[in-house]
Amino acid sequence: MTSDRYDVIVVGLGSMGSAACWHLARRGARVLGLEQFNIPHALGSHHGASRMIRLAYFEHRDYVALLLRAYELWDLLERDSGVKLLHITGGLYLGRPDSELIAGSIRAARDHALPHEVLDRAAIAARFPQFDVPDDAIGVHETRAGFLLPEAAVAAHADQAMRRGAVLHGCEPVTAWDASGDSVSVRTDRATYRAGHLVFAGGAWSGRLVRDLGVDLKVTRQTLGWFWPRETAPFSLGRFPVWAVDPSRGDGYRGIYYGFPMMPDTPGVKIAHHWRTPDGVDPDTVERRPLPGDEAALREGLQRWLPAADGPLLSLQVCLYTNSPDGHFIIDRHPAHPPVTVACGFSGHGFKFASVVGEALADLATTGRSDLPIGFLGLGRFRH
Ligand SMILES: Cc1cc2nc3c(=O)[nH]c(=O)nc-3n(C[C@H](O)[C@H](O)[C@H](O)COP(=O)(O)OP(=O)(O)OC[C@H]3O[C@@H](n4cnc5c(N)ncnc54)[C@H](O)[C@@H]3O)c2cc1C
Repeated sequence: MTSDRYDVIVVGLGSMGSAACWHLARRGARVLGLEQFNIPHALGSHHGASRMIRLAYFEHRDYVALLLRAYELWDLLERDSGVKLLHITGGLYLGRPDSELIAGSIRAARDHALPHEVLDRAAIAARFPQFDVPDDAIGVHETRAGFLLPEAAVAAHADQAMRRGAVLHGCEPVTAWDASGDSVSVRTDRATYRAGHLVFAGGAWSGRLVRDLGVDLKVTRQTLGWFWPRETAPFSLGRFPVWAVDPSRGDGYRGIYYGFPMMPDTPGVKIAHHWRTPDGVDPDTVERRPLPGDEAALREGLQRWLPAADGPLLSLQVCLYTNSPDGHFIIDRHPAHPPVTVACGFSGHGFKFASVVGEALADLATTGRSDLPIGFLGLGRFRH
């Protein structure tokens, strides 16, 4: 069956695709969104109850301008939907002064005049006694950091897109696409759909959908754990910040542990390790049940930095990173197919940007360019 022609088809209605649909629908575009699973779901990269958002970005200073816009758009989505999606808790970052997390966060905060405080060990102990801080560590406290509710945010983007006229289909995988002429078509088991432009936001399945980008995307298995603390009050929402620690001791970056306050709907204190695990996985066959070693890897972070939360394990979830070669996002027009835009390789730190990535994708799909500072995320950087 061949159906109506749309202005834009968005493939993948997770974090980025659902946001793109909302922005496109707000602009009056006729948009079709296709998702292979439910909207939202727990098989990709947007489940697990919380995603950290922070401004003093240690990974690359160019992200800060995008984040400032992301905060505005999360606020707009909250107002449009009437759903609370963002909790501002403040963020505490701990590590040696020369660590990537601490040195990079201070640099970003100073460069962009972001409200922050640098705390010595005594000040950390007085304000955040939950943490066990080594002698050589300092802290950075960032006022505007907090966390988003990812499942609710994907749902709100999708819901608001449909209320503004977008047509979204869940449980309908895209099996093939064609962009050989000046329009595009996608095929599913139900129909062939046509549009002027195609946006791919396929997360961990991106390498399968768009094989000819010339970039190696590596999908990795990541875990999230929830543990019951000795006392609950110190970890409660309103008292406990989002946090991140860089455990390196002058021996190179080994990722960061990070976590969240307790939330009423998921019991326990949540901790994760932001670290690209060495082995790639297939998103369709990855082991989603706990493996030996999963719990111990998370507990190591708790025991070292947050011993008061080192209690019984309550939940362990598996989530997927899609890593680009340099750890930075890929947002660009397809080099061989002008009516195709791709957004992938969010490398385990993309959710906080979903609102602004949606806007950038809508720009690229409707005008071919964006005033947002996304140049550093283009595919051209891999061709040098
Ligand atoms: C454990 C973990 C913790 C994280 N913590 C943070 C954090 O604290 N802060 C932060 O900012 N980021 C965090 N991230 C990263 C962030 O969640 C991801 O970068 C982001 O969700 C990626 O969005 P996406 O749209 O690319 O992928 P997804 O949200 O997974 O969406 C991709 C969608 O495309 C669909 N799809 C794929 N192929 C097809 C097809 N053929 N047809 C139809 N649909 C298709 C998929 O089913 C999926 O729904 C974390 C990620 C993980 C895994």
